[in-house]
Amino acid sequence: MPPSSPRRIAVLGATGSIGRSTLDVVDSHPGRFKVEALTANSNVEALVALCEKYSPSLACIADPALGAAFERAAKSRCPGMQALAGPEGLVACASHDSVDGVMAAIVGAAGLPATLAAAAAGKTVYLANKEALVMSGAILMDTVRRSGAALLPIDSEHNAIFQCLPQNSSGLEPGGTLADKGVRRLLLTASGGPFRTRKRADLASVTPDQACAHPNWVMGRKISVDSATMMNKGLEIIEAHWLFGAAREQVDVVIHPQSVIHSMVEYADGSVIAQLGNPDMRTPIAHALAYPERIESGVQRLNLATFAGLTFEEPDLQRFPALALAYAALEAGGTAPISLNAANEVAVAAFLGGGLPFLAITDVIGGVLERAAAERVEGLDHVLEADRRARALARELMPLARELMQESRACI
Ligand code: NDP
Repeated sequence: MPPSSPRRIAVLGATGSIGRSTLDVVDSHPGRFKVEALTANSNVEALVALCEKYSPSLACIADPALGAAFERAAKSRCPGMQALAGPEGLVACASHDSVDGVMAAIVGAAGLPATLAAAAAGKTVYLANKEALVMSGAILMDTVRRSGAALLPIDSEHNAIFQCLPQNSSGLEPGGTLADKGVRRLLLTASGGPFRTRKRADLASVTPDQACAHPNWVMGRKISVDSATMMNKGLEIIEAHWLFGAAREQVDVVIHPQSVIHSMVEYADGSVIAQLGNPDMRTPIAHALAYPERIESGVQRLNLATFAGLTFEEPDLQRFPALALAYAALEAGGTAPISLNAANEVAVAAFLGGGLPFLAITDVIGGVLERAAAERVEGLDHVLEADRRARALARELMPLARELMQESRACI
């Protein structure tokens, strides 16, 4: 039974891969959801077209330089809509009174202020923007706890774990550790990305398009590169720590190339509960948007008979050092995950822009983690300061990482 009044949602990052999948689920359920706010970064035309279709109360283009163009287009094509620009506009969309739930689907650290604003305003936060949680885990979880907001994971692995855990097992509930609930460990599955079977030496000259050609998932370019380096799984280890109150030794990664099992929970009695489905983000999105009800997502039914087998492998930390770096950052705690995330964003952007070889991405991150001391996080300003410092350090280290890579290639 659909609810009597529609659930009013804001979609932050509406023009992206998660944003569009969210709107696709919304389209399949006329009357169940009302899109109240939409945001994008620079894609003015796509944002205006979405505003024409969904008639939100407000919308924001994040790049302030495009504010005037957006306002002009919105005035003629979406009369009555509030057209905003810049980071404050994102915060306004995330915390507006007319919004019940916020799809946090901006990519990277840029999504942090709006995600935090949604949590502080007591909204139901559908969290895709894992970088926000990696950067400010304690602050975000504390904000959700204090405001009475809800936090539902969109990342397919965390959504799967959420479904496999006993009810009320998120890191938000006071008292009661995972062990108290009989949980031994969380098993994050990873496809292994497009380079799973390649030798490390063969990765020296891979191109951005090759790195973004994920075998199972269609995603934005930043997360696609993260999947290729396996830093995506690294960020997810830290995400699982915060979302479920899991200690470092309670989160393991297993390579599962078919991406059918989205993650698993192992219990003290030896039971392992898994969540399966076709690799399509509309499943976790529909699960979260309608929670605790179940609705159609538009995803094809899983036909296990079409798979020759479901296979599993240990991750290779030598070929994919990103996982070891993420575990190290989680163990170091404090500002270390902020440095990890910031260095990764800078290095991935440089790789995508043709300015850094693929293998140098993790070298830069490792270099930043070595040099940036892990400090106790004192608040949001400190998070942003640590983020700025790690970005500067990453930029400083990139020429050296490039040089070392060229020298080692000359030796091969
Ligand atoms: P995309 O790159 O496809 O989309 C990103 C969205 O964020 C776009 O709407 C983009 O606007 C907007 N955006 C980009 N930069 C900024 C900025 N500086 N300020 C405000 N908005 C910005 O990314 P994805 O949808 O793939 O990923 C979004 C988030 O979801 C990421 O954190 C990712 O890790 C997570 N996620 C994604 C999955 C997937 O399958 N794609 C799976 C699980 C998690 P514009 O179009 O104008 O550039």
